[in-house]
Amino acid sequence: MAAVVTGPDAKPAANRRCRFELKKYKAAFKCEVCRVKSYDTGRYRCDHCGKDRHIDCIRLADEIELGPGPNNIFSTSPVFTLFDNPRRGRNSENKKWAKNCLVCGMPIRHYSYHAQTTENKDLNMHPCCAELATFNTNSRVPLELQTGERHSCVWCGKKRPEEASKYGPTDFYCWSYRLTEGKNRIHVHCYTEMVIEALEQLDDDDNIHIVLKRRRSSDRNDLESILREFINIGLNVAGIGFTDIFLDLV
Ligand SMILES: [Zn+2]
Ligand SMILES: [Zn+2]
Ligand SMILES: [Zn+2]
Ligand SMILES: [Zn+2]
Repeated sequence: MAAVVTGPDAKPAANRRCRFELKKYKAAFKCEVCRVKSYDTGRYRCDHCGKDRHIDCIRLADEIELGPGPNNIFSTSPVFTLFDNPRRGRNSENKKWAKNCLVCGMPIRHYSYHAQTTENKDLNMHPCCAELATFNTNSRVPLELQTGERHSCVWCGKKRPEEASKYGPTDFYCWSYRLTEGKNRIHVHCYTEMVIEALEQLDDDDNIHIVLKRRRSSDRNDLESILREFINIGLNVAGIGFTDIFLDLV
């Protein structure tokens, strides 16, 4: 594919010359800018250093304005600024979870969009998660985003993914996608895990075979059809065509 980014344009700048080209793969990758493992089949790759970037992480804006967000949490349209690490002020009112991504809940290992609220809360987001929150390029938002933790996640079976902070407030932090009219949900993080798992199980005949351990309380048939549907949506968003999905709940 044609698009080539070199030198200083390949922002954030690497310390040596990189040549990133837009390519397509059927495998998961880790973006060198947000350090998040992802499933997008289209991505920028530099064959020289073997690094990959999300399509949007090839040129990041210095500032982005977000709003209104699920539950109107960004009703004041806060401006987020790009830093090469998550930021936490000395006066931070949310020290315990400030350096976790507001959207997916996971720790941030590299670049972060940051804003401090008027109540001195430090909000940080992975660049790829901030993109979900902008709502302007809906292609990467497969379903409606929501906050709240009334139901457990259909993928991990928990209220919060294991690596998320337990301190972030329920109606604000660690978002999920709304499923089946709000009766179910899947964490933003777990959705990514799910599609990566599907990609990793993709065989030469384009079949996917997933074995999942399920908690006893969940209705087997319901869960199977929900997951099958969302794996399909996920694969479409990722750019993989029709596939046969075999799901074993054990
Ligand atoms: Zn390179
Ligand atoms: Zn990225
Ligand atoms: Zn995130
Ligand atoms: Zn989950």
